[in-house]
Amino acid sequence: MTVIGVDDTDSRDRGMCTTYLAARIAERAAEVASVERLLLVRLNPAVEHKTRGNAALAVHTDADSETAFEIAREEVAAVAETDDPRTNPGLVVAPGTPEAVPESVAEFAEKAVRDLHEVEDAEQIVEDAGYRSAGWKMGRGKIGALAAVGAWRAFGEDGAVGGTKTGVGGADWTYECISYREPERVGTPREVDADSVFEAANAAYPAAWDTVDRETGELVCVPHTPGPILHGIRGDDPETVREVAEAIESEPVERRVLFVTNQGTDAHLRDGSLSEVEDGRAYCVTGTVAEEPENRRGGHVFFSLEEETEALRCAAFEPTKRFRDRVRDLRPGDRITACGEVADGTLKLEKFAVRELNSTELVTPDCPDCGRSMKSAGAGQGYRCRDCETSAPGKVEREVGRELEKGWYEVPPEARRHIAKPLIRGGFDAPIHPEK
Ligand code: ATP
Repeated sequence: MTVIGVDDTDSRDRGMCTTYLAARIAERAAEVASVERLLLVRLNPAVEHKTRGNAALAVHTDADSETAFEIAREEVAAVAETDDPRTNPGLVVAPGTPEAVPESVAEFAEKAVRDLHEVEDAEQIVEDAGYRSAGWKMGRGKIGALAAVGAWRAFGEDGAVGGTKTGVGGADWTYECISYREPERVGTPREVDADSVFEAANAAYPAAWDTVDRETGELVCVPHTPGPILHGIRGDDPETVREVAEAIESEPVERRVLFVTNQGTDAHLRDGSLSEVEDGRAYCVTGTVAEEPENRRGGHVFFSLEEETEALRCAAFEPTKRFRDRVRDLRPGDRITACGEVADGTLKLEKFAVRELNSTELVTPDCPDCGRSMKSAGAGQGYRCRDCETSAPGKVEREVGRELEKGWYEVPPEARRHIAKPLIRGGFDAPIHPEK
C-alpha cells in the first residue's frame, strides 16, 4: 500500500481544486493498481493561507510508492496553479498502509485540524519517516499533504477521535460525492436543475445534509466559485450521497468521485475556558451573556461572554443570515456554550447551546391598591404611590417571554463551514434546533 498526500494546488480566481487533482491521481493509479479510497480532510479553518476551505487530499492505493510518487508529481506539475503567488503545492508519499504511519505523523494530522504548523515541522517529520516529498515554490502545501497522510490513523478507521464534553467534535468519517464539469465548460455558468436537486435532497434528508437551504432556496451543493466542481453531495453514507448525485439533472458530468471526509464533524473544535482561548484555534466555551447583543454596521451582531473575571467577544457575522436573529434573542444573564474559531480575540459563532435562560427582568413595582406604576421615592428610598400611600423597597422581578429555548442553535446550511457539524447529525448534549 501507498498513501499519497497532496495540498495547496488551487487558486482563488483561476479555478482549480485539489479534489480534482486527487481524482486525476487516483485515476492514473487505478491504471496500474487498485485504489482503496480518496480522503478529503478539512484542516484548521483558521489558517490564513487557505484558498477556501483548507482541504488536503490523500489517495490510498496499492501502487508501489515510487510509481505513486511519479504519477502524483506529474499530475501536480501539470495542473497546479503555480502562477498564483499564493499557491505553494506540496506532495508527500508514504509507503505502507494508512493505519501504519508513525505516531508523529498521526499527531501532526491531529494538530493540523486544531492548531497551526510551520513548513519546517512537516519537512522534519517527512525526513524522519523517510517519505518521498516534493514542494513547489515555498512548498507550504507539504503541511496539508503530510496531514492528509496521517489523517486515517489520527482519526481512526471509524473516524473517532477526541470529542468535546458538549458532544461536538467527536469526529466520524462522512462522505462527499463530487461531480465534475467537462473541462471546456469550466468558467461558464453551471446548469443544474434546481427542482431535481430539491427533490433528491428531500428524499435523502437527513442522511444527506447541507445539499440545499430550504429557507432561502439556495443550492448549497453547487459552488459559486470558478472551478471544476459541478456539485458536491455530503452525507453520512456512501450510497446515499451517490444516489442524490445521480438523481440531479444537469449539464454533462465529466466524472463522479466519492471522497471519505471529516466534513460535518466539528473535528476542529476543542473544549476551552474563557481564560485559555487563543487566536487561530476553534473552541466550545461556556459563559454568561454579559450585555444585550449589539447590531453593528454591515449587519454583524456582537456580544460578550463572561466567566468570573474573563470576557470574550462573540460575533455572528452578516453571512450567517437568520442565525443572527437567534443571537439577537440572547439576553444578559443567559448561560450559553458558544462554538467557533477565535480570530483577533473574537469568537466567530458557528453554533451555540442555551444552557439557562434569564427569564426575568427588574421593573418598577405597580401599586397593590390602584395597580398604577409607583414612582421613585428618591435615591435609595424605594418606590411609592402618592395617592394610595403604599410603598415598595425596590424594583421587582417580572417574567419575560423568551423566543429561545434550551438547546443548540446553528448557522444555516448556506453559511456552514465545511468542517462544522450540522445539528441534524445528532450526538449533542442538549435538544437541537436544526437549520434545514
Ligand atoms: P486547496 O484546494 O488548494 O487545498 P484550500 O482552501 O484547501 O485550497 P490551500 O490552498 O490548500 O487551501 O491553503 C492552505 C495552506 O495552509 C496549505 O499550504 C496547507 O499546507 C497549509 N496548512 C493547512 N493546515 C495548516 C495548519 N494547521 N497550520 C499551518 N498551515 C496549514
